[in-house]
Amino acid sequence: MDCIFCKTVDKEIETQVIFENEQVLAFEDINPQAPTHLLVIPKKHIPNIQEMDMDDKQQLLPEIFRAIQHIAEEQDLDKGYRVVTNCKDNGGQTVNHLHFHLLGGRHMQWPPG
Ligand code: 5GP
Ligand code: ZN
Repeated sequence: MDCIFCKTVDKEIETQVIFENEQVLAFEDINPQAPTHLLVIPKKHIPNIQEMDMDDKQQLLPEIFRAIQHIAEEQDLDKGYRVVTNCKDNGGQTVNHLHFHLLGGRHMQWPPG
């Protein structure tokens, strides 16, 4: 399977790893849209949020959000941040491995484009 985020998990692609545990990896986005722009992903290949099974939703999703909360503290995002997951074409997803953008360090606009 040719998935750049699986390759990132396997360290075949070089990245700045910010957080890692058994199930979750967080690293810097290659094209940052904010002073802090991290991607928080499950190590397991899941194409998008819509394709999470029951185990993923009950066990993995809380791990991802636990990691996000921990990273936000470590990265001094106490003024706030945004978490985004794009799902399929209309959602603007370009990499088909579930990921959560963690954006911070500036005031975010709403609505998004
Ligand atoms: P999406 O558009 O699917 O929600 O987000 C994909 C994100 O992955 C984009 O923000 C893009 O900049 C980032 N990205 C794409 N390829 C790579 C890569 O090889 N390494 C890293 N660190 N980020 C990538
Ligand atoms: Zn993958």
